Amino acid sequence: MSLSVSVALLRGGANTAKNSKPLVNTAATLLRNQRSQSSFVSVIQRLGAQNIPSTAKFSTSTVSSSSSATNGIGANISKAKEELRLADAVCFDVDSTVCTEEGIDVLAEYLGKGEAVAKLTSAAMDGGTLFQDALRDRLALLQPSKQNFLDCHEKHPPQFCPNVHKLISKLNARNTDVYLVSGGFRIMIEPIADILNIPHTRIYANNIFYNPDGTYNGFDDQEPTSRDGGKPKVMKMLIDKFAYKHVVMIGDGATDLQARPPAHAMIGYGGIAQREKVMNGADWFVHDFKELIDVIDEEN
Ligand SMILES: [Mg+2]
Repeated sequence: MSLSVSVALLRGGANTAKNSKPLVNTAATLLRNQRSQSSFVSVIQRLGAQNIPSTAKFSTSTVSSSSSATNGIGANISKAKEELRLADAVCFDVDSTVCTEEGIDVLAEYLGKGEAVAKLTSAAMDGGTLFQDALRDRLALLQPSKQNFLDCHEKHPPQFCPNVHKLISKLNARNTDVYLVSGGFRIMIEPIADILNIPHTRIYANNIFYNPDGTYNGFDDQEPTSRDGGKPKVMKMLIDKFAYKHVVMIGDGATDLQARPPAHAMIGYGGIAQREKVMNGADWFVHDFKELIDVIDEEN
């Protein structure tokens, strides 16, 4: 399918689908950012152009950038933007949100157990398995030593999602408290926090225990993030402790969606993974952090 046909379908769909403008914008963003073909097809189909084959290919070559593509999708976009403007705390998920990869999958790959662990991760992120069960099973499979984590980091340094560094810099500059709240491992997240100028005290993640010789010795199952429902617990803890009035959670997964409430708004991030549950449940769903940066810049 040629690009001209796909653009025509975008326009045609826009004329027939109710409330279609955000969907058109999302499709345009997907095109421009070369997001997954399946996501693009899904958006087009929601616009009413049902006859597009799922195997259709699209090109970004002649799609110009458009300011209208910054609207995103979501049921409470205005509220999410307002909460972001007012936010005294913004909590970021890490895997597939701050960073492009799932940390545990990177570790598993490094240890030669990638495929088995990826299946467990995927089930957990789609909400099909209790988080604590998936975590326990994956760690039992990996048995990661402290040295394994350090070597893995050396060989595979974290890759950041586009614009996330800029967004966090702007939040830091505005004195908004930024947190990393992750079902991943503290030992992998601390170097990420260092790069983003986030104090280690603002990391909520899982702690691994080691034997005196550095071999794996289980994990701290009392850490809220080690259990299903952990992220809302962290939100409540932060609100109780610091009396935050406007907390925004940003993430790609089902566990991030669980964080609101107590978080006042949840912004879904689909730059790496687009999960239908998150796309439907988020107050605002974006594919590029630039959309959030624009909201912050509007204040100035
Ligand atoms: Mg994630």
